[in-house]
Amino acid sequence: MVQQHVLLTGASGFLATHVLDTLVARGYAVTATVRSQAKGEHIAAKYASKPVTVAVVPDIGADGAFDKVLRDGSITAVIHTASPVIMQPKSDPVAEVLDPAINGVQNILQAVAQHAPQVSTVVLTSSALAIMQLQKFADPDFIHTEETWSDVGWDMAVANPNLAYYASKNLGERAAWKFLDDNKVNFSLTTINPPYIYGPVLQQVSSFEAINETSMHLWKVAFDTKPGDIKGTYNAVPTVYVDVRDVALAHVLPLENPKLAGKRLLPLPGMYTQQQVLDIVNREFPEARGKIAVGQPGTGEFTGRPAPAFDTSATDALLQIKYRPLEETIRDSFAQLFALKKKLGEGV
Ligand code: NAP
Repeated sequence: MVQQHVLLTGASGFLATHVLDTLVARGYAVTATVRSQAKGEHIAAKYASKPVTVAVVPDIGADGAFDKVLRDGSITAVIHTASPVIMQPKSDPVAEVLDPAINGVQNILQAVAQHAPQVSTVVLTSSALAIMQLQKFADPDFIHTEETWSDVGWDMAVANPNLAYYASKNLGERAAWKFLDDNKVNFSLTTINPPYIYGPVLQQVSSFEAINETSMHLWKVAFDTKPGDIKGTYNAVPTVYVDVRDVALAHVLPLENPKLAGKRLLPLPGMYTQQQVLDIVNREFPEARGKIAVGQPGTGEFTGRPAPAFDTSATDALLQIKYRPLEETIRDSFAQLFALKKKLGEGV
């Protein structure tokens, strides 16, 4: 069989680091894009003996950003993960989040269509936020599925910059499907719409503060609690999550299974509460004890306001992934985060 050559964008990111590992383990050749030569050095060194090449694409939002790399002629599939993951833009939600996300999607599809007719599969990292309706977050009677679309648009994001990331994923994915409607292309599109992604942080970072948004979010789920709090109610808000290793596999399967072409996929094994995380971290990591709350151990089952509801049966039947249990995801995430702190010479 001819080895497939995959273009993976955003290769220095949390998710893409795992996608790259998965691709290499399954025998693919990969061209991995990063923003700068310096960011690529770690990747080039890690995969020195593997068929991995690094290419620099400084800004996915710039006109023609991917033209050069897609003129290569041998790339047969594309996995586009690169997008700004900024929950609170500093000053300009359009320049920081919306433009690079949406233009980035259009640029890569345009470049494939124009310069790489041999590409058969494009996988786009979207988000569960492109599926979930803000108005229905707490409506247990509204069932979110692969057919559901977010209601967060451009105007809402400009009025409230904290919604810019939500809109960027919704509008970015819509732009991708519209591109297929408007153009005759040789490739199929599959979108992966994950909820919060957690798991081992394997990307290179210069400081703990520089880890990706959702890994920091998980760290704070435990470390923003009050040490010594043995009464707090930490089971009132549910959060939907998936393990980064499982969602990395979900990105590679469309390259191997034609039944995934043209699908939106919602890999969402379940929800957790803060109490469940506190229980696992207190039990598994002595270094955390006394520094985070204890809460009410064993009461982690969600009891608060109505939770958003999902039916992921279509995705489950297509992907057939046996998702890692919450315990494993949380344990492996924190083990890696503690190890990273130690390596960086930072105390817990
Ligand atoms: P991440 O670590 O911040 O990765 C984002 C990647 O995109 C990084 O490689 C980043 O480059 C690159 N990037 C951002 N803006 C860029 C620009 N203007 N030009 C070039 N590259 C740019 O976050 P992640 O969690 O792995 O996210 C990866 C993808 O998954 C994103 O599409 C995100 O929306 C999606 N997603 C994430 C979650 C989650 O919970 N983490 C959930 C659903 C969907 P640098 O490394 O140089 O910053």
